[in-house]
Amino acid sequence: HNTNVKLVDMPQGFQGEGFMTVQLSKAVGLARKNSIWPLPFATSCCGIEFMATMGATYDLSRFGSERLAFTPRQCDMLLVMGTISKKMAPVLRQVYIQMAEPRWVVAVGACASSGGIFDTYSVLQGIDQVIPVDVYVPGCPPRPEAIIDGIMRVQDLVETESIRRRQSPEYQELLNSYGIS
Ligand code: SF4
Repeated sequence: HNTNVKLVDMPQGFQGEGFMTVQLSKAVGLARKNSIWPLPFATSCCGIEFMATMGATYDLSRFGSERLAFTPRQCDMLLVMGTISKKMAPVLRQVYIQMAEPRWVVAVGACASSGGIFDTYSVLQGIDQVIPVDVYVPGCPPRPEAIIDGIMRVQDLVETESIRRRQSPEYQELLNSYGIS
């Protein structure tokens, strides 16, 4: 498996959670997992592969994610696809801040993950310099299968996440490290 999952250095469950909380987490996780609404933040060529991912052949609706939204307030998963210039970085960060919790982020392709071939003064060398990333999808560009694989990794994270994680000090600490409160 070539998709790299970063579990943002924090536990997905919490010690001492009671039986009811654990069962509720499982039910919520299952529902969330199969109804993730993506926000495509596509700036260049990787976005073209996402169009194919949404088409009839690859059909992302099989995973409950056919409902794209172009407002961050109605989305759960930010898909960043393409080269992000340093001038664009504050916009990306603002979009992330406008998303409601719980929210997940996928860096799709080499440019979003690390700057890709554009090792230059004007290009952000990875979106994780400005926002936390949950899953990185390699490729230049990644094929639709790889993008779907990355989304399935997010589904795995969503399914197993404790409903208390977002209120945890560890999560707040992560946001604080990005200057986001
Ligand atoms: Fe284009 Fe490759 Fe960058 Fe994707 S990773 S945006 S295909 S240059």
